[in-house]
Amino acid sequence: MKAKYEGSCPLCGRPIHVGDEVTRWHGRWVHATCVEDPVEVFLDAVREGRIYVSSRALKVTEKDGVRFPYAEGGVRDLLKTLDEKDLERVRKAAREVTE
Ligand SMILES: [Zn+2]
Repeated sequence: MKAKYEGSCPLCGRPIHVGDEVTRWHGRWVHATCVEDPVEVFLDAVREGRIYVSSRALKVTEKDGVRFPYAEGGVRDLLKTLDEKDLERVRKAAREVTE
């Protein structure tokens, strides 16, 4: 459906404008195109600094001692939905960003 309000997409970190094609993804409005490969879109955003992830947002990585720059509201809930394979991809991207 088309967005009725301005907002921001928690997957890509870019603005959602009125009229953009959007869809629900784990309870949040995102760009329709961003759900085609949500993890890759999210990882690009982390790598490019559009989205920051904190160790608090991803408790699994706290145990591993992986450091993330800082938290971005909303991303927390998305990370909880990732499976182990995708979490590993997020950890790897975060290491690349923080090292
Ligand atoms: Zn998006």
